[in-house]
Amino acid sequence: MVIPMDGAWQCSVCGFHYKDNLDSHTSGKEWAEKCESWCKEHHSCNLEITEHAEESVRGLSSA
Ligand SMILES: [Zn+2]
Repeated sequence: MVIPMDGAWQCSVCGFHYKDNLDSHTSGKEWAEKCESWCKEHHSCNLEITEHAEESVRGLSSA
């Protein structure tokens, strides 16, 4: 289950947060659910999904 945060949704596996983005047709909740199902199945992150995460948008994961 994705975890509802304040204005965002968190993947319970990798902990990334997804906010609703007005530029995207896919809601933050949908991204979080995609992320979570990928994370559970592959035990890794999919860059095409995580690039939509708040952590990626802000550049926090580039370290
Ligand atoms: Zn995830």
